[in-house]
Amino acid sequence: MTREITVRLGRRSYPIVVGVGVLSSVGERLRALGVGSRVALVSDRAVMRMHGEPVTTSLRAAGFRVSTVAVPEGERAKSIAVAQQCWDELLASGLDRTSTVLALGGGAVGDLAGFVAATYMRGLNFVQLPTTILAQVDASIGGKTAIDHPRAKNLIGAFHQPRLVLVDPGTAVTLSDREFRSGLAEVVKHGIVADEAYFVEVERHAGELLARDLPTLERIIGGSCRIKASVVERDEQEAELRAVLNYGHTVGHALEAVTDYGRFAHGEAVSIGMAAAARLAHRLGLASLDTVLRQERLLEGLGLPVRLPDIDHAALLAAIGRDKKARDGQVPFVLAPRIGEFRLVFDVPRDTLRGVLAELSPAEIAPGARPWTD
Ligand code: NAD
Repeated sequence: MTREITVRLGRRSYPIVVGVGVLSSVGERLRALGVGSRVALVSDRAVMRMHGEPVTTSLRAAGFRVSTVAVPEGERAKSIAVAQQCWDELLASGLDRTSTVLALGGGAVGDLAGFVAATYMRGLNFVQLPTTILAQVDASIGGKTAIDHPRAKNLIGAFHQPRLVLVDPGTAVTLSDREFRSGLAEVVKHGIVADEAYFVEVERHAGELLARDLPTLERIIGGSCRIKASVVERDEQEAELRAVLNYGHTVGHALEAVTDYGRFAHGEAVSIGMAAAARLAHRLGLASLDTVLRQERLLEGLGLPVRLPDIDHAALLAAIGRDKKARDGQVPFVLAPRIGEFRLVFDVPRDTLRGVLAELSPAEIAPGARPWTD
């Protein structure tokens, strides 16, 4: 069953359509938007091979002149050199301000193609066709686009909302196990900070989710898109509320940075970060132990890590201190007092944080020490 969710942003409103097979309707849906006839489909070769055919067929059948732009896989796509390659190819294919850039792939392709669409001729139409769970429930919605700077991820970017987002849960079938589970971390995050009923649904259907049962995927991904859309509607430019989506990301990003982005998939780092945030909330007297354990049980049940591996805590604390969302030297933590609620906390004592890191590293606890939960 196809679901449609509208992201209501006045003149920049757009639909997110979630449904198995929906990619093959891209041509007619784009034509209904009244855009020009030239389109560029940006993707990496692997995704293009697996999922490109229904997209190009549908676009051509609807009368579009399609040029394809092949970019490197993953984060390597998010560079100024690849953006330059895209601008060159758009120009060579005669794209103008009425034309459309479509991103088919994970969050990296979406971020790059969105940035190219935001900047080429000061902005043209953009369509997201996300193919990873993370891109489907998170990165493709909200208009944040970016490339990386050699010294920092996502440093160069723009807000540029898509005209249309088509989410085909069927594309998840070809994801590696690790990539698939990693994306589920964002699904759990949405439940924790925004919607207890949704969290319960994920708890109840974790088995079908892991088995990639398509009706379950469609329902859960659709629910997550709805949550992300409602957050974006209320805070398009990330002033305050949108920070809620950083749950687990303060420790998660620091963990990725100190391990040079090579050891953890993003969702794995965020999962550990959520376990840290949950324990922090408990230590600060905001959340019950049951709230902590419920989060960990679901994450573990979905095959995600909730403990810190052997890692230098001092380096991790230093990386947390460099969080780019810090204000006046204070790092904001999104915490969940209960499932479905969040609170932004700025003044987390360093010792409390140090204690949480120790708690998540069982090997570091001295033999015979009393567990903090006593
Ligand atoms: P990714 O885009 O790096 O893709 C990972 C790999 O998955 C690639 O090798 C790709 O070829 C492959 N792949 C994609 N779809 C596939 C499919 N259906 N089957 C098999 N393989 C497939 O990973 P990601 O996790 O989707 O995205 C991470 C990026 O998203 C980061 O750059 C991050 O900064 C960005 N991001 C952006 C936002 C935003 O709001 N703009 C939000 C979160 C993350």
